[in-house]
Amino acid sequence: MKVRENRVQTILRVDLSRRTSFLETLPEAWTRDYIGCRGMNARLLFNEVKAKTDPLGPDNILYLGTGPLDGLPIGMGRMSVACKSPRGTVAEGSFGGFFGPELRRAGVDYVAIRGQADHPVYLYIEDGNIEIRDARHLWGLLTHETDAALHRELKDPDIQLRYIGPAAENLVHASPIFGNLNNCGGRAGCGEVMGSKKLKAIAVRGHQGIRPADYEGFIEAYKEFRERLDLKTSRDMWTPVWSVYGAPVLVRLFAEMGNLMMRNAQEMQWDYEKATVVSGENYLNRYVTKAKSCWCCPWPACQKLHEIKSGKYEGFKGGNYWAGQPVAFGSLIDNDDLEFILVLSGLCNQYGLDIFHIGYTLSWAMECFERGLLTKGDTDGLELRFGCKDQQGLIELLRKIAMKEGFGQLLALGCTEASKIVGKGSERFCLSVKGLELEGIAQRSMLMVALGIAVSEVGPDHTRWYPPYPCHPNLLSEKELADLGIDLDLKLAFQTRNPKEKGKLLRWFTISRGVVESLPSCVFLIRDTLGFDMRPWWNLFKAATGIDLSYQDFIMAGERLLNLDRAFIVREDFRRRDDRPPIRMATEDVPYFGFRKLEPSLFDPMLNEYYEANGWDLETSIPKRKKLEELGLKDVANELESLSLDVE
Ligand code: SF4
Repeated sequence: MKVRENRVQTILRVDLSRRTSFLETLPEAWTRDYIGCRGMNARLLFNEVKAKTDPLGPDNILYLGTGPLDGLPIGMGRMSVACKSPRGTVAEGSFGGFFGPELRRAGVDYVAIRGQADHPVYLYIEDGNIEIRDARHLWGLLTHETDAALHRELKDPDIQLRYIGPAAENLVHASPIFGNLNNCGGRAGCGEVMGSKKLKAIAVRGHQGIRPADYEGFIEAYKEFRERLDLKTSRDMWTPVWSVYGAPVLVRLFAEMGNLMMRNAQEMQWDYEKATVVSGENYLNRYVTKAKSCWCCPWPACQKLHEIKSGKYEGFKGGNYWAGQPVAFGSLIDNDDLEFILVLSGLCNQYGLDIFHIGYTLSWAMECFERGLLTKGDTDGLELRFGCKDQQGLIELLRKIAMKEGFGQLLALGCTEASKIVGKGSERFCLSVKGLELEGIAQRSMLMVALGIAVSEVGPDHTRWYPPYPCHPNLLSEKELADLGIDLDLKLAFQTRNPKEKGKLLRWFTISRGVVESLPSCVFLIRDTLGFDMRPWWNLFKAATGIDLSYQDFIMAGERLLNLDRAFIVREDFRRRDDRPPIRMATEDVPYFGFRKLEPSLFDPMLNEYYEANGWDLETSIPKRKKLEELGLKDVANELESLSLDVE
């Protein structure tokens, strides 16, 4: 069996317009500078998708990226998808499952897809060979139908797939890419871009082995890493909880803390009884049929499959109930019917819709309806009210959004564009940043989260800074932090509603999570002190690749990634004015728990601290030449300057 090495990475370049492809080797220096996966995708995207490229045109490139640890143990099965978003930002998302390792086993680390096919196609990749195959028979199929059809057609149970649903085919806002039926990634528009290329699916099969360069060293690094996640030795209260229940366990806790956004975030105190009904504990006890995980993840119960066993939705099957679903289809639209939440999220997966686009756009439309800004004349006769009394009407509305029919055409645009059309002040109720709807974590209660959502180069994306708080200050002394090269007062940073140190904390989190997702590994594994002490990840990287990189250079790869993403969006005219919370969050206090609105006097000092720590211009957010050159990104500074952007 051929065995892959991990220090040099390959890219399969595909042009769908010309129906050509070739395999290329990336420079070894890029593994040092960008590590892989998200970092490599950021470098490729900045280099190859030029300023003002039409996001839905043939020159936008869709990248699928793995990384040097993909296919090795400890949750190293992640991958990154990236392209230019239809909203002009970076569109990037992380994916779990088994596709990443399989792609590497096929001898390919990255796939870069440009052009547009003249009819629907899918890619079949096996051991470095690629075929562009006809997919006209798959176009229009739901995601689970596509999955089943391709498995039947390819007659290989181990084939790994990525695909889009009808929503992305119809270029519905924020449609992600799907895989393994219930996993998705790239909600900032990767599915839309895949749809614009008439690319229905990618199938991959490989037979090569993947082995760390230093086997003994890797085992040692594995043990060190594993200790932080072990139920007996981890010093993080979430380790046992998460490894059994997964993210939905947060629902009741969030309700108790006043952290659940209710009725389009007009209020923050959803009834504890309702939150109990839709809680992870209730879900686990009543609906879960099986637990599963991504490739070699140490948390085997993280993901779930479920089935509704009786009642009007009897037989409805699906998977994954994270912290987002109970917000998107529970508290935001004031629905405490857990089975209906499972149905709405399951249908989103089947149509290939993003749950947050749908949850926030529905809650925006419900608020508009209740305020008289939308009427039954606009909604095809639907009584669109919070509380979701007309479940069949909402199920039909979901179909109309995916197919862009009737009232669904308006909501298919997402709440930012829809509110521009409806007008009458409805923009005030639209909960989005850079044109993309928020996710499940509330903003006004956790200030680093508020800042992280506002400044993200892709729009709201918790994986950029997860988890939303640092480890307890007792776990790391000032000296230990200083020895790790981190300039931060951890005691202040730990206080979620104190604005001090939040800019610096967010910068560190963004850089270090960038490193984790470049290896790649999973941000959900950041427990104990792993969010600050990156040496276990560093040791894994060195043992896997055989590259002797200094710790400082290892961390610098994350800083390069952040600056490349920022340079990409400033090239597209995004500036400080776009790094803002939604109007509601900035102008309305929450009358419980003392949560304050994110008005400029509270928000701006955090933003200044963040820009300053990054070496970016305070007025514009443009990275300065000095910082870019420090990072070895002189070409990026020159490119920005050539576009008349002030980097001095
Ligand atoms: S923690 Fe969950 S999402 Fe992350 S790699 Fe493991 S199974 Fe996948």
